[in-house]
Amino acid sequence: MSSAISRFFLLAASVTPALGFCGARTHLDRRAEGEEVPVSTFGYTGTVGPLLWSQLDTAANGLCSTGSNQSPINMVEGQFKLVSACDVELDIPDATEGATFENLGSTVEVVMKEVGGTFVLEGKNYTLEQFHFHHPSEHLDDGVSMPMEMHMVFTTEAEEIAVIGVYVDLVDSPTVLQLHLHPRSAPSTLLETIFSSIGDIATPGTSTKTKPLVMSELVTQLKAGSFQRYSGSLTTPPCSEGVAWSVSTEKLRLSKSTYQAVRDVVGFNSRYPQNNLGEQNLLAMASGAAAPSNSTAARRRWAM
Ligand SMILES: [Zn+2]
Repeated sequence: MSSAISRFFLLAASVTPALGFCGARTHLDRRAEGEEVPVSTFGYTGTVGPLLWSQLDTAANGLCSTGSNQSPINMVEGQFKLVSACDVELDIPDATEGATFENLGSTVEVVMKEVGGTFVLEGKNYTLEQFHFHHPSEHLDDGVSMPMEMHMVFTTEAEEIAVIGVYVDLVDSPTVLQLHLHPRSAPSTLLETIFSSIGDIATPGTSTKTKPLVMSELVTQLKAGSFQRYSGSLTTPPCSEGVAWSVSTEKLRLSKSTYQAVRDVVGFNSRYPQNNLGEQNLLAMASGAAAPSNSTAARRRWAM
C-alpha cells in the first residue's frame, strides 16, 4: 500500500523545485514555517483539469489516467466495507490557539500539523496533517452529489495516507423545536467558525488564522456513525494509490449563507467520479486503449 506513495515522495525529493514539479504542490505538501502559501498548478477545468492531469507531468501523474483504484468513486454497496466508528480510535485535540487557514488555489485548507490528532487504522498510527474542502462533493453518496466534502488527511511516519471524508449538506435556519428534536441538524459550529474567516483568504496564496477550533464536536459526531472504507487514491495529482479511505455516514451541516460565501471563494474543485475499483481507468477506455466491448465488467453493467 505504501510503495507507490513512497516512490512518489522519493521522486519528489529527487527533483529540484526549479523544474516546477507540480506533484510537489499537492495538498500533502509540507513546508517550512513562514514560507509562502503555494498555489497549485493543477486545476479543475480546461487544460489543467482532471482529464489532462497526467499530461501536466507525465513522469509523476501517470496514475491519474492509468490507475485502476482511483478516487473519488460512487459510494454504492459492494465498493466499500462498512465499519462502526464507535470503536475506532480517533482523537483530535482542540486548536485552542486557532489554526492556519490557507487558500491553495485548488482548495482551502486548515493546517493541523501543529495541533495533531490520531487515527488508528488496522494497527497503524496516523497523524492528522490538514483538512480541506471540495465543492461539490467528490464522492457520490449512493449516486447523490453533496454540496461539499471535507477531507481530513492523516499520514504515518512511513508516509502512508489515510483520509476521512465527510459530506457537508445544507440546513435552513432550524427552529428551536427542530434543534431540540434533531440536534445534529444544526449548522456545524466547527465549520461555521472556520468559514467565518473565508473572506480573509479570498485570493489564492493567502492565509489567515482561525478562531479557536473545538474539534470534539466533530469527533463525537463521526463516532456516532460508521465509516465506509476502501483503498483508493489521492483525488489530486499525482493520484497516488494505496490511500485508505474512510467516508463517514455522518454529514456535517452548513448554513446557506456560509455555503454561498465558501462557494464564491472555492469555485469548482471536484474530480469526476472514477470507474469501479479494480476496473480500467476511464481515460484509458476513452482513448481506445481498453475498448468497453472487451470488458467483462462493462458488459455485465450494460446488461443490467
Ligand atoms: Zn481532497
